[in-house]
Amino acid sequence: MRYRLLAPLVGLVAGFAALAGAQELRPNELGRFMILEYHKIDHPEERWTRTPENFRRDLETLYARGYRLVSLNDMLDGRIALPAGTTPVVLTFDDSSPGQFRYLEHNGSVELDPQSGVGILEAFANERPDFGRAATFYVLPGANRPNRLFDQPQLAGKKLRYLADRGYEIGNHTLWHANLGKYPEATVRAQIAEAQTWIQRHVPNYRPRTLALPHGVYPKEVAWAVEGEAKGSTYRHDAILMVAGGAAPSPFSRRFDPIRLPRIQAVERDLKYWLTYFDQNPSERFVSDGDATTITVPAALRDRLRTPLPSSLRVIER
Ligand SMILES: [Zn+2]
Repeated sequence: MRYRLLAPLVGLVAGFAALAGAQELRPNELGRFMILEYHKIDHPEERWTRTPENFRRDLETLYARGYRLVSLNDMLDGRIALPAGTTPVVLTFDDSSPGQFRYLEHNGSVELDPQSGVGILEAFANERPDFGRAATFYVLPGANRPNRLFDQPQLAGKKLRYLADRGYEIGNHTLWHANLGKYPEATVRAQIAEAQTWIQRHVPNYRPRTLALPHGVYPKEVAWAVEGEAKGSTYRHDAILMVAGGAAPSPFSRRFDPIRLPRIQAVERDLKYWLTYFDQNPSERFVSDGDATTITVPAALRDRLRTPLPSSLRVIER
């Protein structure tokens, strides 16, 4: 009897503790947020590989510390609908390696591999609906195996449509991971446009709104990557992502530069560094006010807001 009572009680206390921890944070929508960058989800853990177990643990750690998933496009639009006291975090996956999204085939039917990145994300979102469901996949439609659209050719279209239907985002990472700094304008534009054409062949009319630079290298003219036309396709990016650089400025901050968005590589050391950093510097952390129509900022920082802000958003000083 005692034990049966104890278990829910412990859960309740732990729940309150986590909630209290999150609620101690005062809203600051000028704080910074993390855009995490994953590559392979596979064994063993390596520089560019996170194991399924460690990826799952990352989600648990983020959740317990008051982080909630927001899509990159929503961040860019300033559409941050989170409970008060929580912090947005963006997940990105580069290079469409097989462990990110795998189907298991049994007797003609297919099911999501629970050990793949998307399988882990889906399971976690079902267990913790308030964590959110969001991630951007920077895919390579023309790369060699195993990086061509998650390496199950007959299921590539099904996967891209699944991502789009479930609210995940598909981003441009060029056709086959070209180092854009090495090529003339025509090649740069063709790499970007053809990647989009391939994505749209699978998901009609889908517009990748963001580009992640292969190797983090900009073309000689950044404008080539922002918008243009090549091979009969027109592209326009609202943000360009680098491969490093730390936490990103708030999208409401004057320091926010969507053409140079920094990311944090999701490896043990860097993740730990930034989680600790925000624990020790809570005033630098983006903390939601719980109202998607207002931007709450410390009064002393008001002049750090960028202008113009989306007209639908009202600024509140605290
Ligand atoms: Zn890459």
